[in-house]
Parts: sequence; structure tokens; C-alpha cells
Amino acid sequence: MTLRPLSALFALLFSATLPALAQDAKAVAAGIDAMYPQLDAIYKDLHAHPELAFQEVRTAAKLAADLRALGFEVTEKVGKTGIVAIYKNGPGPTVLVRTEMDGLPMEEKSGFAWASRAHAQLDGKDTLVAHSCGHDVHMTAWLATARTLVAMKAQWQGTLMFIGQPAEEIVAGAKAMIEDGLFTRFGKPDYAFALHSWPHAYGTIGYNSGPVSSNSDALEITFKGRGGHGSAPDKALDPVMIAARFVVDVQTVISREKDPKEFGVVTIGAINGGSVGNIIPDSVKVRGTIRSYTPAVREKILAGVRRVANASAAMADAPAPDVQLIAGGAAIINDEQLTTRTAGVLKQAFGDDKVWRMPAMTASEDFSQFANAGIPAMFFFTGVYSPQAVAEAEKPGGKPVAFNHSPYYAPVPEPSIKTAAQAMSLAVLNVLNKPGK
Ligand SMILES: [Zn+2]
Ligand SMILES: [Zn+2]
Repeated sequence: MTLRPLSALFALLFSATLPALAQDAKAVAAGIDAMYPQLDAIYKDLHAHPELAFQEVRTAAKLAADLRALGFEVTEKVGKTGIVAIYKNGPGPTVLVRTEMDGLPMEEKSGFAWASRAHAQLDGKDTLVAHSCGHDVHMTAWLATARTLVAMKAQWQGTLMFIGQPAEEIVAGAKAMIEDGLFTRFGKPDYAFALHSWPHAYGTIGYNSGPVSSNSDALEITFKGRGGHGSAPDKALDPVMIAARFVVDVQTVISREKDPKEFGVVTIGAINGGSVGNIIPDSVKVRGTIRSYTPAVREKILAGVRRVANASAAMADAPAPDVQLIAGGAAIINDEQLTTRTAGVLKQAFGDDKVWRMPAMTASEDFSQFANAGIPAMFFFTGVYSPQAVAEAEKPGGKPVAFNHSPYYAPVPEPSIKTAAQAMSLAVLNVLNKPGK
């Protein structure tokens, strides 16, 4: 009985707010449809000219010029190649919207007419570069969001803080921008948003509250032995054996020590040691990655890796190994209130069946730097492939769709960009002040 007045109030609230939201959603979609030909040209240009982490000079200049033309006050070279663009439109919250700008050192095999054939220098070596993570889709949607919000400036009040972040792929750009005074020079925002394209159907949005990406730490361990002849192992101390033991035994930290209900991964991606078959080398270097969602699991795995490394060496009566555990990105923790509030608006605009709660990804993302700075943040996912292709991929034995970082990653431009741009515009609009309120 006590619920009745409350449900009546909710009914009243929804009938009052729905038309306004529906109007916003319609205006946003119509605006983005109208500007699409320009967005298509921007996207294809960005796609064909990818740049590596901290080398995004051409990309940053293009984004900066576009936002300046819209009336944003733009500062370049924040965190090496980053940009910060501010648009003040009356009293209200400051909303940070991030795009990443970097491509990947790899060859593109999408078959697109506008595919990248760009080259760059990486550690003194030539490499091909491609936007195989969809950062070009994000940049285009970010520009479309800025254009949409400026065009609709009579409908909101507050401040936009659009940031073009460098070097997401090496999990270094967000930190570089913060260390270069992002929040001290430009103020601390009240909310922060970012999106990532994902191999789901376009027109759909994935979200979650709590952790949505993983903590990432690197391990680099050098096992020390004593080189010698392969025929006389007793006269040497074999670090290959120690490393082999470590690679196997370290997985018991995951399978026997970690709570099986909690996420945690240790992957050894590189073992380097020795030169030929009949020489026992002096040392072996093992490199890997450690992923987790919670600080407790992270600590448990890091301690376990160190202990197993030392024990593997001790078992062979070898000197203690050199164990480097290098902290990488922290997990993004989506703010529960902001997520609920934003998901509600997206569901009304796209439909309940198109906005779904997805599990956290095991990859890492340095948008966590902004969320960890105490700013209520939300990171969500937008689809890029046709619903038919995604449905086919989900069938047993069906043709898989290419994942981010695949050379075949190939978002369908128009619907992918529109999905991302509409979702971000509505998410930002929803937290800005409404004039006269
Ligand atoms: Zn990536
Ligand atoms: Zn990415």
C-alpha cells in the first residue's frame, strides 16, 4: 500500500520527462544524420592517416582546428600530443568527454578502399600503422558530439571539456595529460565519459557499473644460471629449466590460490634465452602480463608471481632472480549513479533491447586515470558490425567477426559512427543543466 504513492509519482515523472527526452533524442539523431557526409570524410581521412602513440601530431592538429571552428578554446600539446578544448555555456557542471587518438603498429587487412598504408618509426624501426582499435570511429563521434552540443546550446548550460588523449594503446597518455596539469590548469570536471567501439551490432550499446576493464601489470623476470656445455649440465646451472618450471608453476597462483569466482590472468608472452641447442645459457628472461579487476586479487597474484619466481630459482640452488613487476593501468570503475542515469536515457533513445549490460572486458584502458582521480565516470561500448554478421558469428561454426586489434577489424562506418555519436551526445546532454531549472 505504501508503494502506491511512490509509483504514482514515478508515473508522473516519466510522463513529464519522456517527451523532453524523446525530443532530445530525435533532435540529436536528425542533427547527426544531416552532418554525416562531413563526418564520413573526416573518418576516412583519419583512418587513412593513423599515427602511433605520442606521434599524433597531424591527428591532434585536425581535431584542434575543428573544435576551434566550433568556438571551443583549444590548448594543444597537453601531455606531449594531447589537446584540451573548453566550451563554456553558462552555469552548470563541467563534463569531460575523452577520445583517444593513437593507432597501432600493424598492417591493416580490412580491404577498405580507404585502408591505411601509413608508416612510422617505432624504436628506430619502420612499421606500418593502422587504426585497428577503432580510435578513428571514436574521434569522429567525439567531433560529432561537439558539433551536436554546440548546435543545441540553447537546450543546456554548463561547460564542455573535450580532450583528445594520446597514447592509449601504451596506457600512458591519460597519465601524461594529468601530469601536465590537466585538472590544475583546466579545472576538475564533474563527470567524465568515454566510449569504445566493440565487435557487437551497430545500433547497440553495452554498459556495466563497477569494473569494466582490468588492472594491468607487466612482469619481467631474469633467471640467472651459469652457462656451460649442453653435454655436461652438472658443470653448469641451467636457467632454461628454472624458467620452464616457473612458467608452469606460476599458473597455480591462478588455479590454486586465487578465489575461482574472481577474475585473474597471468600470461607469459615471451621467453628469451640461449642461442643454439648445445649451449646452456647464463640467463633467461621471461616476460608476461597480469590482469585482475580488484586490488585484493591483484596483490595476491603479484605476491604469488614473485614467490614462485624465487622458489623456482631456489629449487635449482640458483641465485635469486631479478623480478620486475611493473604497474600498468588500473581497472576503470564506472560510477554506479552515473551509469544508471545514463543507461536510462540510452534505453529510451535506442530501445531496451539495444542497450544491454555486458560483462567487464579483460583488456585494460587508461581512461581509469580520470575515474580514479575522483570524477564520477562512465565508459561504455558501441557496436560496429551488421546485426546479421554478429548473429552469424554467434552460431556454432559461424564466421567470426574481427575483434579490435585484428588486422581485419572493419567497423561499418556510417551506422557505427552514428551509434557512437548519438549515444555520447545524449549521455552528455543528460548531465548538463537545463536552462530555467
Ligand atoms: Zn586498442
Ligand atoms: Zn582502443
